[in-house]
Amino acid sequence: MTRSGQEYLASLRDGREIWLDGERIEDVASHPAFRNTAASIAHLYDLAHDSAHAPVLTRGGVHRAFAIPRSYGDLVARREAYKVWAEASFGFLGRTPDCMAGGAAGFAALPSLFTTDAYDGSDAALAYHRRLAEGDLYPTFTLTNPQIDRTRPPSAQEEDDLVVRVVAEKDGGIVVRGAKTIGTAAVFGNEVLVGTIEPLTPQDVEHAVCFSVPVGTPGLRLVSRTSYEARARSVFDNPLSSRFDENDALLVCDDVFVPWERVLAYRNVDVAFRMWWHTPAYLNFVHQAATRFWTKLEFLTGVAILITKANNTYEVPQVTQAIGRLLGRVAQAKAFVLAAEASCEEVDGGRGGVAPGRDISYAHRIMAGELYPQAVQEIRLLAGGGLIQLPASGEDLLHPELGPLLRKYVRSPGTPAEDRVKLLKLAWDALGSEFAGRHEQYERFYHGAPHVYLTQQAWEGGGPACEALARACLDGYGLGGAR
Ligand SMILES: Cc1cc2nc3c(=O)[nH]c(=O)nc-3n(C[C@H](O)[C@H](O)[C@H](O)COP(=O)(O)OP(=O)(O)OC[C@H]3O[C@@H](n4cnc5c(N)ncnc54)[C@H](O)[C@@H]3O)c2cc1C
Repeated sequence: MTRSGQEYLASLRDGREIWLDGERIEDVASHPAFRNTAASIAHLYDLAHDSAHAPVLTRGGVHRAFAIPRSYGDLVARREAYKVWAEASFGFLGRTPDCMAGGAAGFAALPSLFTTDAYDGSDAALAYHRRLAEGDLYPTFTLTNPQIDRTRPPSAQEEDDLVVRVVAEKDGGIVVRGAKTIGTAAVFGNEVLVGTIEPLTPQDVEHAVCFSVPVGTPGLRLVSRTSYEARARSVFDNPLSSRFDENDALLVCDDVFVPWERVLAYRNVDVAFRMWWHTPAYLNFVHQAATRFWTKLEFLTGVAILITKANNTYEVPQVTQAIGRLLGRVAQAKAFVLAAEASCEEVDGGRGGVAPGRDISYAHRIMAGELYPQAVQEIRLLAGGGLIQLPASGEDLLHPELGPLLRKYVRSPGTPAEDRVKLLKLAWDALGSEFAGRHEQYERFYHGAPHVYLTQQAWEGGGPACEALARACLDGYGLGGAR
């Protein structure tokens, strides 16, 4: 059954080892660097108990993201659930619990992929999915190897334990050591899945492992990046970063024991890779991400409209056209979601249900990674210096001397100072702050680096059909004219 927000917050008090600024964080749910975001996530859980949202978010008391979609209609219903949570953070919480929930459902749709002669991880894959769905747990994941030396595979790095690898087998499980990145929301999760989404070499057998453990597992450490929430002055001054800072952390395993029932892939380079690409796991990720991306563009475009109306530039033809271009991009982002659903494919001849269409899901990564920075630049151009010329904090508006002065000069027709400052501070948090910079990097990279996904698109993105069409044209004429 779905948990309440309070139950979720209580689950974070499990002895987890989180580090920030040289401090070990005792309680993520109450620490000033994390507590508002934890509360925002708790709110997502509460929405599933709200009569207005429960029918959209859940089915049979379980969040829809855990369900294996059996039809096009199921995909639409899942997207409607994704949209509710995406709107709750205006698209700024990327790795909400429904993201990896879809990944787990993807594994459960094709458990046979985890069975080989040497190791059978199918029960662990099914148990992972069942455990998450029944407990309404928050799953997160680290699938990227630390950069260190990108010219060498994990097994050829200058030290043995730089990338998570198996160092021993013990009674009942394995022992792993090494690091993984980038653990978005891992500090807020209940479990973290450790694996590798990019190809490994045949020599990387010890690194070809995938498992999921509770975040509080002994020996597992998460080292947080800067907390934007901690730096936020107030909700008024930093309305997004103060509440939707989902965090990114380096995961370090210091001889972590993992029981077999949590090991999905073991010493198998092929399974460790194909579990993402040959099950619907990755396609389900994209379904959630593309819905959130569409929502985020809707929000940013809304901010652009409000700014241009406040500045009284909205009716200026070039500005109106820029808004039109932004709205066209919103429609483009929406179209990718709807088209991936409409082109859904059967999994394992229908035994594993359906998954969003592959070529459109893959293409979403290219569109989103390129479109997001363009949209941000466009809105910054529309906003001008007003994004910068703002009082340092809302306190200035309350000051007996400064308040009246600011009310006189920081305003627009129909928009009093407090509303204008509020709007522009929201815009700066979304478009120009350190938090905003992280979001631009996120949208460019969360689905992999361009050199990887562009190459994959070239291999799998329907090139032969395009080539055949061009060839058909060439074959239709010659030196003697049309044939
Ligand atoms: C904010 C954020 C959140 C993220 N959250 C998660 C998460 O929750 N879980 C997770 O598993 N991952 C996460 N990721 C990681 C993401 O999956 C990786 O960023 C992505 O896979 C690329 O890896 P990398 O960042 O190490 O870049 P690299 O692979 O190091 O590539 C960086 C750049 O180096 C160059 N380059 C490197 N190698 C080559 C090559 N062989 N050929 C050509 N050019 C090359 C390219 O210019 C490339 O753009 C997140 C990333 C970001 C930015």
